Amino acid sequence: MAGIYIHIPFCKKRCLYCDFFSTTILERQEEYMKAVVRELEMRQDEIEEPIETIYIGGGTPSTLPIRLIIGLNKVITPFNNREFTMEINPGDVTEDYLHGLREIGINRLSIGIQSFQDELLQRIGRRHNAEQAIKAVQMAQKAGFKNISIDLMYALPTQTVQQWRADIKTAIDLRVQHISSYGLMYEEGTILTKQLESGEIKAIDEETENAMYDLLCEQMKQAGFVHYEVSNFALPGYESKHNSNYWNGTPYIGIGAGAHSFVNNVRSWNPSDLDAYINGINDGTLVRESENLTEKDLYNEHIMLGLRTCRGIFRKEIKADLEHWINNNMVRETEDGRIVATQNGLHILNLIIEELMI
Ligand code: SF4
Repeated sequence: MAGIYIHIPFCKKRCLYCDFFSTTILERQEEYMKAVVRELEMRQDEIEEPIETIYIGGGTPSTLPIRLIIGLNKVITPFNNREFTMEINPGDVTEDYLHGLREIGINRLSIGIQSFQDELLQRIGRRHNAEQAIKAVQMAQKAGFKNISIDLMYALPTQTVQQWRADIKTAIDLRVQHISSYGLMYEEGTILTKQLESGEIKAIDEETENAMYDLLCEQMKQAGFVHYEVSNFALPGYESKHNSNYWNGTPYIGIGAGAHSFVNNVRSWNPSDLDAYINGINDGTLVRESENLTEKDLYNEHIMLGLRTCRGIFRKEIKADLEHWINNNMVRETEDGRIVATQNGLHILNLIIEELMI
């Protein structure tokens, strides 16, 4: 068993680009966390040791008071020697809070910074500012966290390459161990997408977005980071174990509303609805939907996840014709027979993956 994912679907405010499942009704956190602890108890027989990683994600887990996170200790102790990550929002952290997290056993933080430019943070509806972002990292380091990841976004409306370059430099100068970076996606139904459709904002053109991505890859490499997955960069030894296990197809269980599990080639998921989830747990009838992955599904998943990583996939595993992708320098074969995307290929990775699927 690779790990346990615990979903905390609460946010103080909804970001304008987000289509994840979360609610701003924080009053429900207490009953929700009781249900989470109960679900962990109910599913003890599914949790096969050794659990290598625990990941508390969201939503915004740092909206939870420490006393509610401590409740998890009842069911998943001890945490020693495991990668135990929690996502935090820079606007939530105080020194006391960070010390509290350390005491619980959390040894890795993923900080949702997104940008160090106040103007851009406001444009996408984040509730923190650049100063808070920098302080959050510094406070976490002072509190003794030695494994810190930050999230950064590019291709934000009006963002310039100069602003992006400055953000990358700020991130490197903060001496964090890991950076996850995603280009903004305009998801259906979000406020930002409506603003785009009404002409209120303009999307960054593809050429600039690619230039921003290339700049990120180049700067990260120069700073000694390993580009181990299309959107993830780590100092050697600081790759996310939890996410790497997802990408390797290792089993995991997901706890909480909307959380997915993957065990014995079966994917299952809890209801993405607070009432359905809590009521289901409370009366002991939590119904998870599930699907058995076929050979074809597993193959496609392997292609999709494998090609996103720097390890790629063994050429002999790929069923489709690769020649034109190789001839066009979109993928290359390594000495040990793996197919990996080139820098050009990373720009159109989804297209390549789609074509290699069956
Ligand atoms: S904090 Fe994260 S989950 Fe919550 S609204 Fe913003 S992007 Fe979505």
